[in-house]
Amino acid sequence: MSELFHYQAGNHSLRQGYFDAAVRHYETFLRSSTGQNRMVGLFEMGEAFKLNSCFNTAILCYEKILDMPTQGIDPAVADDIRRKVQADMELCDKLRNYTHPLNALFQPRALVIEPTNACNYSCYKCLHPAMKRKKTKLDPEQYEKFLSGWARRFGEFEEITFTGGGEALLHKGLTDIVRSSSKWMPHSCLTIGTNLSLLSEVRARELIEAGLKNWKVSLDTDDRAEHEKITGQDTFEVVIGNIEMLWSVLDEGKRGQLEVAAHRPLDGQYSEKMREIFNLVNGKCTVFRRSPYHSLMGRKENAELKLWEQTMDFDAPLHKVCLELWHNLVVTADGDIRRCCSDMFDCPDAELFGNIFTQTLDEIISNEKRRTVQTKIQTGATSDLYLCNRCFALYDHTSTFKG
Ligand code: SF4
Ligand code: SF4
Repeated sequence: MSELFHYQAGNHSLRQGYFDAAVRHYETFLRSSTGQNRMVGLFEMGEAFKLNSCFNTAILCYEKILDMPTQGIDPAVADDIRRKVQADMELCDKLRNYTHPLNALFQPRALVIEPTNACNYSCYKCLHPAMKRKKTKLDPEQYEKFLSGWARRFGEFEEITFTGGGEALLHKGLTDIVRSSSKWMPHSCLTIGTNLSLLSEVRARELIEAGLKNWKVSLDTDDRAEHEKITGQDTFEVVIGNIEMLWSVLDEGKRGQLEVAAHRPLDGQYSEKMREIFNLVNGKCTVFRRSPYHSLMGRKENAELKLWEQTMDFDAPLHKVCLELWHNLVVTADGDIRRCCSDMFDCPDAELFGNIFTQTLDEIISNEKRRTVQTKIQTGATSDLYLCNRCFALYDHTSTFKG
C-alpha cells in the first residue's frame, strides 16, 4: 500500500476516535516515508494528536521532527515546520500537565481480570496443570477499591472480562465482584470466560441480575469420552446441559450473549469435528467460534498443539501490530499486571507491569516497562520480547490454513 493511503487512513481513524487504528496506519506510513514527506506527515500527525488531547504522542512526533536531518528538504519548509514544532511542544508540555494525566492512546480501554487461578480441569492444551503461581482468588474489596478509583479518575472500561488462568466460577464471591463492576461501571460490557461445568440455574440468574452480559464457553468436542480425555473430568453431559439451561435463562440471547468457542488440533479431522461440535450447539448459542490449538508460544511441548504453527511462516516480514497492550489491562487474581492473556500462566516476575492493589493509578499507568514494550511492538522490534517473539497472533495471516 502507498504511504499516502496509510497517512489518510490514519487521519480518518483519528477523526473517528480509533486511536489504535490511527497509530497502526501512521506507523506504517512512517516506515515507508522519507525526507520532506516524512517531515510534513509527522507534523500533521502531531497536530492531529494535539487536537485529540494526545499530548504525549504529539510530543513524540515533534521530537522525531527535531531529530530529522534536513538535507534534501526545502529549507523554507523545514524552518517553518521546526519553528511551529518548538511552539507546539511547549504548549503540549503545559497542556499534558493540566489536563487528563493520561495520554488517551496509552490508556487501556478494557479490563481482563482473573477471579482465580484455581481450576477444576487440567486440560492438556493448557499450561494450568504445571502453573507455578500460588493458587489464589481475587479479593472483592481490593478489586472494588481499584475499580472505583479508576472510574472516578478515568471513567469506565468498555469491557470487563472475568477470565484468566483458572475457572472463574470457582470464586464463590463472583456475584459480588460482578455487582460492584456494574455499580462503578454501569455501561461496561461484563463478560465471563468459563468451562461452564460449575454453573447452576440459581447462580446463572444471580450473575445475570448482577449485570453479567456475555458468556464465553469453551467446548472442544462433541464426545463424552474425548471430553474427559481433554479436560481430565467427566463433565461433558453437565456442560451440554448447562449450555441449554443458560440459553433458556438468557431467553435465547435476548438478555445477553452466549458464545461457544471450540479448539482442536489442526489434524485431518479438524473441519469434520468442528462441524459436529457446531451441530451440537447450533440453536443454543449466539455465536460459534473455532480455531486450532497452538503451543502457547512454544511453551507446551506437544506434537498436536504445534500443527497450526507449522503452517505459518515465522520468517516473514512483520506486518502486524498487536494492540493488546493498548486495549487491555490484564490483571491476575493477586493484582499483578501482565502483558496479555497468554501471559497469565507462567510470566516471570521481571515481565510484570506493576500491581493494581499495591500501586497508585499514576504508577500503574506510567509503568516504564509497559511503555518500553509498547514502543517495541509499535516499531516491530519484537524479536527480543518475551512471548511476543514467538506469538502466533503476529503470524497467523501467513498460515497456509485458511479455515
Ligand atoms: S484451559 Fe481453562 S479450563 Fe482448561 S485447565 Fe486451563 S484454565 Fe482450566
Ligand atoms: S504475546 Fe502475542 S498477544 Fe501477547 S502482547 Fe505479545 S504479540 Fe500480543
